[in-house]
Amino acid sequence: MKYLVLFTFLPILVMAQNKSAQLDDLSNRYAERSFPLLKELLSIPNDAFYPDDIEKNVTWCETEFGMRGFATNRIATKGAPLVLAERTHKSAKKTVLIYLQIDGQPVDSTRWFQESPYTPTLKKKGQDGDWESIPWNRITNYEDDWRVFARSASDAKGPVAMFLAALDAAAEASIQPNYNIKVIMDFEEELGSPHLPQAVIDNASLLESDMLIIFDGPRHITNKPTLTFGARGIATATLTTYGPVVPQHSGHFGNYAPNPALRLSKLLASMKDDSGRVIIPGFYDGIRIDEDTEKILRAVPDNENQIKNRLQIVEADGVGNYYQEAIQYPSLNIRGMQSGWINEKVRTIIPGWARAEIDVRLVLESDPKRLLNLIKSHVQDQGYVVIDTEPTKEERLKHHKIATLTTEISYQSFRTDFDSEVGLWLRSALGKAFGEEPIMIRMSGGSIPISPFVSTLGIPAVTVPTVNRDNNQHSPNENIRLGNYREGIKTMIAILKEKL
Ligand SMILES: [Zn+2]
Repeated sequence: MKYLVLFTFLPILVMAQNKSAQLDDLSNRYAERSFPLLKELLSIPNDAFYPDDIEKNVTWCETEFGMRGFATNRIATKGAPLVLAERTHKSAKKTVLIYLQIDGQPVDSTRWFQESPYTPTLKKKGQDGDWESIPWNRITNYEDDWRVFARSASDAKGPVAMFLAALDAAAEASIQPNYNIKVIMDFEEELGSPHLPQAVIDNASLLESDMLIIFDGPRHITNKPTLTFGARGIATATLTTYGPVVPQHSGHFGNYAPNPALRLSKLLASMKDDSGRVIIPGFYDGIRIDEDTEKILRAVPDNENQIKNRLQIVEADGVGNYYQEAIQYPSLNIRGMQSGWINEKVRTIIPGWARAEIDVRLVLESDPKRLLNLIKSHVQDQGYVVIDTEPTKEERLKHHKIATLTTEISYQSFRTDFDSEVGLWLRSALGKAFGEEPIMIRMSGGSIPISPFVSTLGIPAVTVPTVNRDNNQHSPNENIRLGNYREGIKTMIAILKEKL
């Protein structure tokens, strides 16, 4: 594989100079020209809990893609529809499916330093390091480090605007893709795309294509052109332990009524060793990092000291020897815990229950059902009767230790070879555009609902991330860096131009 990289890479460098001049010119002009479009799109509220707002986004997308020669189709689901936009091109033999996400995380307006999360605000960093608003009319003279702050600026309406701008730029330059394009738009991604797997099964022939690319996610932390070839899947579990049926006075019943918080702590503690490795037998079965994989992982220019410094941790968990290796394994993460009350609400009681919310990030080798069953058996092995509802009085009186465990599998992981057809094609496109081989990530730690496409349609998938990593995704004050916006457009024009 090493040789293949060399052979495909050398001609790219030779051609890089004159080719990227056209892309630079186009992306410069179309970044500027599309700022009103970006602003308009970010102004439409897109929390998927509000169907009326989502409908406005659906209509907007239908109109914009329709204007660019796409035939659009609503795919009905039990929730928000998916939109499929399709455009065929002369002499095209292959079809590329492109996944876009339109909805955004809920917002807490009080924590945004601007009028509203849906009022896109242009900002630059002041001398004191704070972000200061600047009037929108200055955008014609923007600097790369300026940013637009709004919900979904990066996750993932920014890439939607980039793609529309790239289509316009390609049209002006008579760049005609030699493949057909299908764009699938998801309006429930932040809800975990609950209706997507069924919709893909029901509409498999409509979605038929040769490969899938996903315009979503942040570039590598160095902010260099990046391709991501896989993502972990996700399953979740809720684990509850019980004490007295209602909270009891800790003076009257301390030393007598069992404490559910202690029980839960011991249960959770029994799942991992001090280095953070899961010690439930079989949890990491099937995963092997061979020499070639090790090379791929080591080639990612991570600065581990910088990562630890940012997280303010001295030592990482011992699941992998370094960051990229760590995310090749499934995780077992306590994402939240609750029992009794704390802070100003604290009271001297023995709580009635304790609950942990767990997420399990999945890799290709790990069957989610098997992992969740391992967790269940482990809880049983600690002497618990495991049920999936709240215990009745009869059950409480019969069993000393009861745990309620409910689980849900959202979606599996996917992983595509660097040297697959879609991999080589994208590497070549980005290589020509930027004059260097992109950073290639085997697996991203986070999850995207792509496995339904990969498994149902039987096509490979690669993510093309474009946005800045420090974009406050999912948090207040989400933003996109304008240099990334422009280079994202450049990336997408390069892909439209690259022959398949
Ligand atoms: Zn998101």
